[in-house]
Amino acid sequence: MQQHLIDSSEAALASVALDPLGLGTGTFEVRDPATERVIATPPDHSVETALIALARADEAGKAWARTTARHRSDVLHRAYGLLVEQRDRLALVITREMGKPLAEAYGEVQYAADYVRWYAEEALRPSGNYRENPAGGSTILTTRAPIGTTLLITPWNFPMAMATRKIAPAIAVGCGAVVKPAALTPLTTLVVAEIFVQAGVPEDLVQVVTTKNSAGLSSALMADGRVRKVSFTGSTGIGSVLLGQAAEHVIKSSMELGGNAPLIVFDDADLDRAVEGAVVAKLRNGGQSCVAANRILVQDGIADAFVEGFAERMGEAVLGNGLAEGVTLGPVIDDRAVRGFAGLVEDAVARGADLRLGGAAPEGPGHFFEATVLDNVPAGSEIANTEIFGPIAAITRFGTEDEAIERANSTPFGLAGYVFSESIDRAFEVADRLDTGMVGINQGIVSNVAAPFGGVKASGLGREGSGEGLEEYQEIRFYNLARRGRP
Ligand code: NAP
Repeated sequence: MQQHLIDSSEAALASVALDPLGLGTGTFEVRDPATERVIATPPDHSVETALIALARADEAGKAWARTTARHRSDVLHRAYGLLVEQRDRLALVITREMGKPLAEAYGEVQYAADYVRWYAEEALRPSGNYRENPAGGSTILTTRAPIGTTLLITPWNFPMAMATRKIAPAIAVGCGAVVKPAALTPLTTLVVAEIFVQAGVPEDLVQVVTTKNSAGLSSALMADGRVRKVSFTGSTGIGSVLLGQAAEHVIKSSMELGGNAPLIVFDDADLDRAVEGAVVAKLRNGGQSCVAANRILVQDGIADAFVEGFAERMGEAVLGNGLAEGVTLGPVIDDRAVRGFAGLVEDAVARGADLRLGGAAPEGPGHFFEATVLDNVPAGSEIANTEIFGPIAAITRFGTEDEAIERANSTPFGLAGYVFSESIDRAFEVADRLDTGMVGINQGIVSNVAAPFGGVKASGLGREGSGEGLEEYQEIRFYNLARRGRP
């Protein structure tokens, strides 16, 4: 590993202001998943501290809501510039706390900053409209107002992008926010919030609360009465707990939850494009992505050629510390994940799956698992019915289009799906019939700042990114204007 990268990453970690709230008492440990070494000890904030943070964000939000859209847009544009300018620092912190290879961390920094630029632009778009009362005598004007103080809860897998995808639209429309990052990866969010302040965001507007007690803090915040919106990205189990609390206190909710994406390759697919797309959809972020290809369904006629090409390309993944040159597959997040993957592979093989590549967890230190390909995975195996969240590809084969669609939809989840076919009619028809919020057609990437990211069924409620993502932070109001002289 290059010493200068180790040194710069140490400097980046040392630059993180761990307690901007100034209210920390106890601390907890954050570890580098590639080495298992402790890299920071941020404050383990209490419920009382979280409530102080909420009061600050709420107060600052009231003043921020009265600023002009032009001002908020200018601040976000400055934030975009600063995030890009500080990309080295951000990427190094992401790799050290989350593990992804440095090149992918740079990709996340740009993707995350793009949300800030997008919402800097979107802040200026007109909102509201004008309608005539069909019975005459009045005109109806609708406006969109900032919803109020928001609670933003983010996962560990994209610590920067999941934060900016929520913070930027909240700031753009005029809301204050309490942000609660995952305890495994709180550092990137602290840097992002610091950069927002450098850009001109009022100091109290975005409060980052680090804690090991996420359940206690978030339930206290949800019950407080000042939180008007919760936006959560994480597992479906925790999402439904939060939805229960939101129902109790009538809080508007956005839920970006778990996935189980089918990736369907038809006989008439372009083989190279399907292989490349499947590798990207499987290995991006080490497979630790809610839109990762979870079930790869391949039609009989192309299956042998696809599996061969796919296993070969997966075998090119270079496993190691994300800071090391040439590494394309970093560690997974923790030891629990490694043990889970080993169990999934063992179960699938015991039930008759063919292990075509990988399958093992190299010795530590660090939490590593090889890029793995399983073919002919039996329907009853655990891996066919779970969100893998790691670098293991589970392939099954199918005969007809109807069979593929039925299997693709046979899960409670509905986040992303992928279709590979050179027939535009077939690709669109199958995409229409998939019960998912997003479909990649002949490509393995769906995320884009201009796209409404989100799922159906147990994969969530609401959308992030795009204009739709902005509306999640607004309330609609209307004014009914009596009009003299109008029929
Ligand atoms: P997770 O365990 O649900 O945690 C997500 C966040 O919720 C973390 O900040 C976590 O904090 C917090 N949390 C945990 N228990 C909580 C509780 N009782 N009340 C309030 N907050 C609580 O999920 P994860 O393991 O970090 O992330 C993986 C999951 O996220 C996968 O299912 C993946 O599909 C999903 N995901 C979805 C999307 C999407 O856009 N749909 C994007 C990325 C990931 P602590 O960890 O500190 O407890």
